[in-house]
Amino acid sequence: MQDCIFCKIIAGEIPSSKVYEDDEILIFRDIDPIARVHLLCVPKEHYKTVAELNAARAETLGRALQKIGSFAPSFGLDGGYRLVMNQGEAAGQTVPHLHIHILGGEPLSWGK
Ligand code: 5GP
Ligand code: ZN
Repeated sequence: MQDCIFCKIIAGEIPSSKVYEDDEILIFRDIDPIARVHLLCVPKEHYKTVAELNAARAETLGRALQKIGSFAPSFGLDGGYRLVMNQGEAAGQTVPHLHIHILGGEPLSWGK
């Protein structure tokens, strides 16, 4: 999508600190981390929320979770980590391209 910052990162038009990439997902460091380790996992296909999932997108998302689970120790997340997906503006979604925040590298408190 033309004006989407994550699509531009995926296309390599905007630089990012990539930690994992395959043909369907990209994991890179958040530019404004709120935890010692703060990564973003995005499907390469542009859509905004889980309301737009279809079977193929759900399969990709499942594989993304599998990758996160298997690579977490090498990301410095061995002590536990949090996955967050903001869905829509009221939840704080600022980039309209589905993404999973991966937060950890330190003890995390819980709040809304
Ligand atoms: P949201 O608020 O939509 O759930 O999360 C968007 C995230 O994208 C924010 O944590 C923000 O810091 C991050 N972000 C926004 N623009 C960029 C960028 O250009 N590069 C990177 N690496 N992260 C970005
Ligand atoms: Zn996009």
